[in-house]
Amino acid sequence: MRFLKMTMKKETQAQKFDFIVLGGGVSGLGFAKRISENGRSVLVLEKESVVGGLSRTLNHNNFYLDFCAHRFHTNNKALLNEIQSLPGLTMRRHIKKSRIYIFHKYLKYPFELQNLLRAMPLYQSFLCGCSFIYNQFAKHFYKKSGLKSYKDWFVYQYGKRLYSVMCYPYTSKIWHVDPAEISADWADQRFQGENMKKLLRRIILKLFRLDFSSYSLEDDSLAPDGGPFYYPLRGIQEMPDALARAAQTNGTKIRTSVEIISINSAEKTVSYREENKIKTAKYGDLISTIPLHALYALQERKEAIVEKALKDTKYMSIIFVYLFINKPQVSNDHWIYFPDKDIVFNRAVEFGNWSPEMCPPGKTSICFDITTFEDTPEWSMPDSALTERVISDAVRIKYLERTDIESSYVLKIRYAYPFYDLAYKKRLDVIVNFFENNKSTHLLGRTGIFKYNNSDNSIEMGFALAEKFLQGKKNKSIYDYEVKSISY
Ligand SMILES: Cc1cc2nc3c(=O)[nH]c(=O)nc-3n(C[C@H](O)[C@H](O)[C@H](O)COP(=O)(O)OP(=O)(O)OC[C@H]3O[C@@H](n4cnc5c(N)ncnc54)[C@H](O)[C@@H]3O)c2cc1C
Repeated sequence: MRFLKMTMKKETQAQKFDFIVLGGGVSGLGFAKRISENGRSVLVLEKESVVGGLSRTLNHNNFYLDFCAHRFHTNNKALLNEIQSLPGLTMRRHIKKSRIYIFHKYLKYPFELQNLLRAMPLYQSFLCGCSFIYNQFAKHFYKKSGLKSYKDWFVYQYGKRLYSVMCYPYTSKIWHVDPAEISADWADQRFQGENMKKLLRRIILKLFRLDFSSYSLEDDSLAPDGGPFYYPLRGIQEMPDALARAAQTNGTKIRTSVEIISINSAEKTVSYREENKIKTAKYGDLISTIPLHALYALQERKEAIVEKALKDTKYMSIIFVYLFINKPQVSNDHWIYFPDKDIVFNRAVEFGNWSPEMCPPGKTSICFDITTFEDTPEWSMPDSALTERVISDAVRIKYLERTDIESSYVLKIRYAYPFYDLAYKKRLDVIVNFFENNKSTHLLGRTGIFKYNNSDNSIEMGFALAEKFLQGKKNKSIYDYEVKSISY
C-alpha cells in the first residue's frame, strides 16, 4: 500500500508533455517550433548551457566564433522564407567566395576546370584532360547504380586522373581513409553532380575569352562563384536562438544545462538532473536528436546485435584552432580549402568576411579545422602544440605572418560528422529499427539519425517529422527522408 502511494506520488509529480525532445540543436528546435504552433506541448532537454548544437556561436573576448563555416543555404523557398522571417534574426545575403590551395597556388573553388588544368604541370593537365574527355564517353557504358564507394562515384563523374587531383587528397585527409572506403551515399547526399554539357560549354567559352584568374592570395578581383547563402550579423547562433524563441512563444519549455539520467520507455518518462535536482517528465512521444550511442546508454532495453552495430558506427570529431589577427583582413575569402597532407588543417574560415560584427574593429579571426577520430594523434595533442603546428603551417605557406597573430583558442568537439564507411547503412538499419520499433521513440537530425545533413536539412527534417504527427500518419519515421544538401 505504501509502495503504491509512493508510485502515485511520483506519477503526480511528473509533468506530462505531448513530446519530449532530447537535444536543442536546430532539428529539435525546428520540430518544437512546428509542433507547438499547432497546440502540442513540448519539453526540450539540452545538455549545454545554450541551444544550437553544432550550429552554435561562441563569444570569446568580443570575437564571435562559429564551429567553422556555417552558411545557411537551401533550395527550399518556403523554408528560406520561414527562417528569414523569424523575429530577431538578422540574415544577410552573401555570394560565396572560396578558394583551394593546390599546386602551391590559390585557385577558385568550386574548381573551374580551365584554371585547374592550367595550374597543373603540363603533362598532368594533358593526361587529366584526356581522361576527363574519355570518361564523358565511357561513362554511358557503366551502371550508376553499381557505384559503391565515393571513389567509384567520383571516377564515374570526372575520370581517374581528375580523381587523383580533385578528390583523393582532400577526401582522404578529412576522413583519414581512402575514398574507396567511403560509401557513395555521402557523395549522393552532398553533390548534385555537374551537367556535363553546361560544364564543357563553360570551359570552352572561358578558354576562348582567355578568362583565367590570378592565383595569388592578394588578388581581390575574384569573381563571385558558388552562389548565394545567408548568414546572420553575429554568428549562426542567431538562428537556433530565433527558432527557440518562436517555439517558446507557443509554449515550448526549453531546459538547458541538464543531464539526462535515464529513459523509461515502458512508463514513457525521462529523468534528468537540473540545478542539482532530479526531475522526471512524462511524454506521449520521445524525439531524440542526440548521438545514437548516448540514446542507447540512457534507455533500459539492451540487445547484443545493436551493441555490435553501434560499436562499429562512428562519428568523427573535430578540432577548431581559432587565431585572432591584429589586422582587418587576411584574404577576401569566406573560406579556403587546404588538401595537402603536410598542412595540418583542412580549411581556414575568416569570420571578418562573414560579417564586420563578428570581430572588434580593425581585427579579424580565423578558424582552422582538423578532423580526427579519438585515436588520431591530434586529438590528444595539447592545445599549445596544436596551435603552434597550425601557425607554423600557415606561415610556411605564406597565408599568415606570425607577427599579425595576437592570441589563440582551441576547441574540440565530439560527434561532428556521421562517418559513412561502406557498411554503415546495414548497421544503421539495425540501430534505427531497434529504436523506432518502440512506436513512441523517433530519431531526428544529423546527429540523432546519422545523416550527413546541413542545417537547412536538419530543420526541414524537424518540420517533416512534426507534419507527420499533425497529419496523423501511421508511419512517422523520417529515416528515409531524402537529404539533398548543397555541398559546402
Ligand atoms: C564543422 C561543421 C561545419 C558545418 N557547416 C555547415 C554549413 O556551412 N552550413 C550548414 O547548413 N550546415 C553546416 N554544418 C551542419 C550543421 O551544423 C548541422 O546540420 C546541424 O547543426 C545539425 O543539427 P541537429 O539538431 O541535427 O544536430 P546537433 O546540432 O548535433 O544537435 C544535437 C543536440 O543534442 C545535444 N545533446 C547531445 N547529447 C545530449 C545529451 N546526452 N543530453 C542532452 N542533450 C544532448 C547537443 O548538445 C546538441 O545541442 C556543419 C557542421 C559541422 C560539424
